[in-house]
Amino acid sequence: MSDTPTPVELLDGRSATVGRSRVTRLLPKRAHRTVGAWCFADRFGPDDVSEAAMAVGPHPHIGLQTVTWLHAGEVLHTDSLGSEQLIRPGELNLMTSGDGIAHAEESPTGAVGALAGIQLWVALPDETRHGPAAFEHHGDLPIVEAAGADVHLLVGEWGGERSPARHDTPLVGLDVHLHGDAELGLDPTFEHVVIPVDGPVVVDGTPVEPGRSGYLATGRASVSLAGTGRVMLLGGQPFGAELQMSWNFVGRTTAELDDAYRDWARALEQGTDRFGDVRSTLARVPAPPR
Ligand code: MN
Repeated sequence: MSDTPTPVELLDGRSATVGRSRVTRLLPKRAHRTVGAWCFADRFGPDDVSEAAMAVGPHPHIGLQTVTWLHAGEVLHTDSLGSEQLIRPGELNLMTSGDGIAHAEESPTGAVGALAGIQLWVALPDETRHGPAAFEHHGDLPIVEAAGADVHLLVGEWGGERSPARHDTPLVGLDVHLHGDAELGLDPTFEHVVIPVDGPVVVDGTPVEPGRSGYLATGRASVSLAGTGRVMLLGGQPFGAELQMSWNFVGRTTAELDDAYRDWARALEQGTDRFGDVRSTLARVPAPPR
């Protein structure tokens, strides 16, 4: 391992629309389709819920985990396993699609104030991507008080603590609350991405503005972060497999995605065993034209 790590690589996010909300999409990128198994990252908000409530009707997923993490507000999750879970800042919703699941996400009735957070996906490995669906809620995750930062541990191990959240490949997910300069230890076998949330952060001397991210290649034992406010740090062992991603589906071949589109079209017409029913007042979301 070299003493001088590769420089921080700046990646631009882009604006996208999900339901009625504008988001900043930070993953996937052409140069980095995945960071570890992290394959999708959308930052949303802050939005005023009285003007822009979240209302994403039942929609399907295959081949991934959805990792929902809020920085402000509340969201109600319902899924075809029968889960019904309100999530608040500091709590983690983790849904494993396996071969197929459907879920809805909406602002609770009467919600006011700001809604902000990050929607992440983790690609499942071959061992579990055809397996059963599952849902976890974690309301009490480890917080590590480090020099210059309080580190909330969403997934994986960090600073001697371990998150109870399921992960099927080597992975870490941190919400770092900076209050100065911090030097965070990294697993050198992991690649990482730093995503500013509240304001700019200086990553090993390179300023990274909100709306962009900083990619860190494998071979680093630490990273220095300077700034104030929150920063997401995601990482994992390079995923290896080539992903095919389309709409809400993650697979390995176009034929798998074709099957998922076909099965969801059937679900819209007549219900289906594959994705199941979601208890939601919202209408099922049709797939966009391909
Ligand atoms: Mn979803």
